[in-house]
Amino acid sequence: MPEEAKRRSAYEVAKAQFLEAAKHLNLPEDIQEFLLTPKRELIVHFPVIMDDGRLRMFTGYRVHHSTVKGPTKGGIRYHPSVNLDEIRALAMWMTWKCALMDLPYGGAKGGVAVDPSSLSEGELKRLTRRYAAEISILLGPERDIPAPDVGTNPRIMGWIMDTYSIHKGYSVPAVVTGKPISIGGSKGRIDATGLGVMYTTRETLHRKGIHLHEVTVAVQGFGNVGSIAAMAMHREGAKIVAVSDVHGGVYNPNGLDPFDLKRHVDQAGTVATYPLGDPITNRELLTMDVDVLVPAALEGVIDEELAPEVKARFIAEGANGPLTVEADKILLDKGVTIIPDILCNAGGVVVSYFEWVQDLQSFFWTEDEIRRQLKRIMLTNFDAVWDQALVKNVDLRTAAYTLAISRVAEALEARGVYP
Ligand code: NAD
Repeated sequence: MPEEAKRRSAYEVAKAQFLEAAKHLNLPEDIQEFLLTPKRELIVHFPVIMDDGRLRMFTGYRVHHSTVKGPTKGGIRYHPSVNLDEIRALAMWMTWKCALMDLPYGGAKGGVAVDPSSLSEGELKRLTRRYAAEISILLGPERDIPAPDVGTNPRIMGWIMDTYSIHKGYSVPAVVTGKPISIGGSKGRIDATGLGVMYTTRETLHRKGIHLHEVTVAVQGFGNVGSIAAMAMHREGAKIVAVSDVHGGVYNPNGLDPFDLKRHVDQAGTVATYPLGDPITNRELLTMDVDVLVPAALEGVIDEELAPEVKARFIAEGANGPLTVEADKILLDKGVTIIPDILCNAGGVVVSYFEWVQDLQSFFWTEDEIRRQLKRIMLTNFDAVWDQALVKNVDLRTAAYTLAISRVAEALEARGVYP
């Protein structure tokens, strides 16, 4: 059997994580099945006129995993490997992440199987507008609110907001978050996920009597999450010794300046050519002898083959689902502390929630207010997860899942089953 086929899909990982956590809850099997099953799944095949005048077909998805706690929330991914199973997994993770942060949302995710870097600006715009129109039957500020994810950005969110608004006949800023500030985006949104990664890492280290300024860090992925997390940790005194992206990585035992690295990436398009360090591969980065490893690229990057070689004592999951179930077990057995994605990278959805609230009220908060509320929500729920781990004598992922799942189950109990 080919390697790829043997590997569990992200959806199988998400289901396995749910079932592991469910063992620690008294949930009847029928309720477990309800909570595991995506509520609705839309697949769209749609045409885009390319710059050469030819028509090309694309496939997109939008999955609502759960609407129990409110309208659905979740990003839109543009990546060649996007498929239904991946989107299902990401939608389910959003349900637990929103519940863990106590936000009034269910989980969703969407995506298009495309390499956005292969498209011209005009092609990207036409693809986005057509995809937004195709999935608009599911969207709405009170129904489903997308946000950026891998391969998408505020500009793309602006086009989605505009497309939806044109079809409605009036402006609907609250239909999407992560937009440019000029059309109802929130201050602090771009930094939110990376800052949250820093807060949860700093807090975890503190509980073990360690300070961020005492540790070395390796970051995989230097996009929105990885770059901001690296900068936030660097500002707190951590030594960022290695960073990588899809083209490769760079290592400097004396520490890299992520702000300078960002300037380089803005010009060169990759960290791999940064001159103030030695080139390394992604594999070398993931198995590097550092205190903290921050996988902030894609899911499944650490599997059972790589896990035994991982030397970091702490893993902060900036990405969604970066560890396979098998890798998770191997690393826990080795005594590694893993800050789970639904806690670690939840800062983005928290500030997305603030953006939605501000849009609905047409009243905008200051950046200080946003930072203060983000920190409060992240630390409150960090404490809840830490306490749950102690009470149930489980790892942080199981603690986060049990908390999140029980919050959704409680909401389901309160709503009942129709009819
Ligand atoms: P991004 O597109 O801004 O950056 C992704 C980075 O990963 C880039 O540096 C890219 O080069 C790198 N990358 C891609 N494929 C790679 C590979 N095979 N090997 C090594 N590096 C690779 O995306 P992002 O928004 O930073 O998201 C990264 C992860 O964080 C994803 O798992 C996403 O779901 C998750 N996440 C993002 C947010 C957010 O607010 N953006 C919130 C929560 C979780």
